[in-house]
Amino acid sequence: MLSMATVLTAELLLSPEKLLREPMLVLEDGVIDSIRTRESDAIPSSAEHLDFPGCTLIPALFDIHMHGAMGHDVMEATPEALTAIGHFLASHGVGAFLPTTMSVPLDATLHSLEGLAKFIDKKVHGARPLGIHLEGPFLSHAKRGAHPSNWLLPPSVKVFDRLWQAAQGHIRILTLAPELPSAEELTAHASALGVRVSIGHSDSGSVAARKAIAAGARSATHTFNAMRALDHRNPGILGVVLTSDELYAEIICDGVHVDPAIVDLFWKAKGPDRAILVTDAMSATGMPDGTYRLGELPVVVENGRCLYEGVLAGSVLTLDRAVRNFREFTGAEWSKVIALASRNPARMTGLDQKIGSLEEGRWADIVVLSPEGQIVATLLSGRIAYRA
Ligand SMILES: [Zn+2]
Repeated sequence: MLSMATVLTAELLLSPEKLLREPMLVLEDGVIDSIRTRESDAIPSSAEHLDFPGCTLIPALFDIHMHGAMGHDVMEATPEALTAIGHFLASHGVGAFLPTTMSVPLDATLHSLEGLAKFIDKKVHGARPLGIHLEGPFLSHAKRGAHPSNWLLPPSVKVFDRLWQAAQGHIRILTLAPELPSAEELTAHASALGVRVSIGHSDSGSVAARKAIAAGARSATHTFNAMRALDHRNPGILGVVLTSDELYAEIICDGVHVDPAIVDLFWKAKGPDRAILVTDAMSATGMPDGTYRLGELPVVVENGRCLYEGVLAGSVLTLDRAVRNFREFTGAEWSKVIALASRNPARMTGLDQKIGSLEEGRWADIVVLSPEGQIVATLLSGRIAYRA
């Protein structure tokens, strides 16, 4: 069967390594078939033409740390929950995400992972879950944030293998505290399976953090949050996260979790190739103030703050806002900031041959931005998934 191509035109194309005026993209079979400019080529008459005058095309965003939205937690792992979350994400320019677990009883985690595994790499409406971020249960009691003490476990290859099987091998990121016993062994084991180990929820000193990197750790989970504070005489995990060129690092850029001045410090330390924007969004995202679920916990949301017993518990941040905030807090160029929410998470997770930049052969997951940086439309697999 012949599928009809779509031709997409706009004023500007901004992909991390590319800036093109008057771009003309031909989209076919869900991928970007060609990228040309309008002046050099006539628009093929057989194709459907989508024109966005004055707008900028960027790669769809990729959120590697998100717990829920629209009243749903990803751990519900139902078609209803993932569809509602996927639609909401698409309306904020997100094309792919890693549903992120909370620490709950092991059986409940296994049940959620079995449910989530069914949706990975499947055709879904809205943003696609491309793997799972297992945040916990191998976290530090001292830096557990909103993860309940009862459900934390010491790192264990045996427990991890049960989780891995329940998830049918779809765990992409494992957050763990590197100072815990057997953390090094689990880091090496998970890394050998292709899992990206991300250090966080940690009270670690610098030695254990460096050992984790040597054992294969690739990233750091919500840098500064649930991490031992930086001390100039005892730099600990943060000193390693901020200075290790081999380590990517997430940051929650909502202006609440990390002060804007510290976001700027983070930018100067991690730079355009290693910084990653995440939301840590929970089920209240996209909803009015009230009480919502994060894992098992009731979290009170008021004025953009999510609190459980006085502790910050997730966010109501969206990734498009994180991009705008980051630009405001750091003054970095648009093309660089966009990379932190598209190319960098794609590279870190090894998905950069499919998503994260606008190149021929990559998935046609494209966001159309207004001159003010607002989302005008989101195309996923070459089709409109959202239009303002
Ligand atoms: Zn966390």
